[in-house]
Amino acid sequence: MNYRDFIGNESAKGYLDGLLAHDRVGHAYIFTGEKGLGKRTLAGQFARALLCTGEGERPCGACHGCRMALSGNHPDLIWVTHEKPNLITVDEVRDQIVSQVSVKPYYNGKKVFIVPDAGLMNLRGQNAILKTIEEPPAYAVILLLSENRDMLLPTIGSRCVTVSLKPLHRKQVEEYLTARRQVPSGQAAVLSALSHGNIGRAIRMLEDEEYRACSDMTMQFLRDPMNMAIDEVFAFAKEAAKKKEQILDMLDIMLFWYRDVLMAKTAGKEASLTFIEETEYIVTRAKRLDYADIGRALKEIGYTKERLSANVSAETGMDVLLLAMRA
Ligand SMILES: [Zn+2]
Repeated sequence: MNYRDFIGNESAKGYLDGLLAHDRVGHAYIFTGEKGLGKRTLAGQFARALLCTGEGERPCGACHGCRMALSGNHPDLIWVTHEKPNLITVDEVRDQIVSQVSVKPYYNGKKVFIVPDAGLMNLRGQNAILKTIEEPPAYAVILLLSENRDMLLPTIGSRCVTVSLKPLHRKQVEEYLTARRQVPSGQAAVLSALSHGNIGRAIRMLEDEEYRACSDMTMQFLRDPMNMAIDEVFAFAKEAAKKKEQILDMLDIMLFWYRDVLMAKTAGKEASLTFIEETEYIVTRAKRLDYADIGRALKEIGYTKERLSANVSAETGMDVLLLAMRA
């Protein structure tokens, strides 16, 4: 298969390639993996490969089928949509899948149904799709995408083959960002570390203004915590606590930053740091702190993550952490 920008996850790709090469494509697959790993991208490419009528590696990207699929207008490729943000209703399942599956493909090939966030189908919806998965017409292929396979009924799971996507190596994300997105290498190194091998997450961090503001705020503090007046520290904690979406990212920034300080303490300027552009500040901090201080800071960051997941007030958690870092 022609994967273009889809990097990593060789075993999933190898498996899908094998199906295509030996013409052994089944009727139902579950694509799993956390948000941002590319479930939609891979399922979309697989669907296009199934509908491609071009020569050579599929999807060719040039044939009539590929062009229709890419523009979202292929009559035999159905991306299931839903009105409510957190629910795919039984009516939506019936209208878009159950009643459509018996209609023969418009062209002479497969008919592919993709259900993004398939775990949002309620019990009735899942039962409705079950019959289709049990007795599909020969041309039908159903791709269910879900972060968690357990959100689907075991009866569905047992009739589907699971294709699971895994986070990538840090270097792969870094290469992707520099080569395909023209991100400067320093920034790419930081984003790849913070993304935990998740390209989707790295891209969100790259493009999200809110994230960048949080990141700037955090770096400002880290460069010289003692230089910040105490009321500014509390203001920062309060501000950070409001950023429900980004607060864990901010804690990650702190974690990687202090790891850098630890590296600098050991290897000085030669250390291979995540925050290369912050080398000067990091080396200065490393001189001022001893190993016990750095260890304490790293531990406090870990505790704060735990406190937040245990629903301790984010503001209190951040107050405690920031004050500890000033020591
Ligand atoms: Zn094609």
